[in-house]
Amino acid sequence: MLNFKTAGSCFIIVIIAIALLVYFFEINYYWFLIPVICFKVLIIYGSAKIQTDFYMKAFCSATTRDKEIALTFDDGPNPEYTKTILSKLAEHNAPATFFLIGKNIKGNEDIIKQMDAAGHMIGNHTYSHSFLIDFKSKNGFLYELNATSDIIYSIIKKRMKFFRPPYGVTTPNLAKASKALNYTIIGWNIRSLDTTKDSEEKITSRVISQIKPGAIILFHDTSEKTIKVVEHTLNFAAKNGFKIVSVESLLKIKGYA
Ligand SMILES: [Zn+2]
Repeated sequence: MLNFKTAGSCFIIVIIAIALLVYFFEINYYWFLIPVICFKVLIIYGSAKIQTDFYMKAFCSATTRDKEIALTFDDGPNPEYTKTILSKLAEHNAPATFFLIGKNIKGNEDIIKQMDAAGHMIGNHTYSHSFLIDFKSKNGFLYELNATSDIIYSIIKKRMKFFRPPYGVTTPNLAKASKALNYTIIGWNIRSLDTTKDSEEKITSRVISQIKPGAIILFHDTSEKTIKVVEHTLNFAAKNGFKIVSVESLLKIKGYA
């Protein structure tokens, strides 16, 4: 897959080639627009799509023939819904991986303890999950990651090593910060789109139709609808012989330092 470095090198080569053509053959300056537009489009696509590994490697699924899948939940803890999700997972003896937002933790420490005690993994989803987070500097991302890491450490005495970028958007500064702190970026290959207006049935069918060995499913423990979809997904997995495992176990990469 084309990454940022290769794309950047190609861009510079094409710009130099056009500059030479302009100088020696007096071709129109408008030719510069083509690589500039292509590069911009590529940057936007690569930043928005975590599966492209544009700025850094993101683990979005496992290569396996074993019927194992991982459920992941972003944006919690949520005082209204997370506990219900935990009880549904417990009914199916299914470990999940929760990517938590630091600012949501205060007052919900008991939920974190419950997750950890039940064998679920916890990963970093930044402190603020701000809408403008992708404009942050490397130091801004370092703060976002460290603040949440310190809060989680104070509750369960574990240092998270999994990081899921908010909105699945990656940037050069996010990549630098995550590398400096030795995080493993975790993406997904099944996006439930459970925060959209789509019905429970539509979301369920979108999820289960894509389930295959090694899949990582993205949910959000932030709505009643997701609880229903998770129930259907757990039932589907049980009926079809899919084992639910944590991201750590699926990828065989350590989730804590
Ligand atoms: Zn999120």
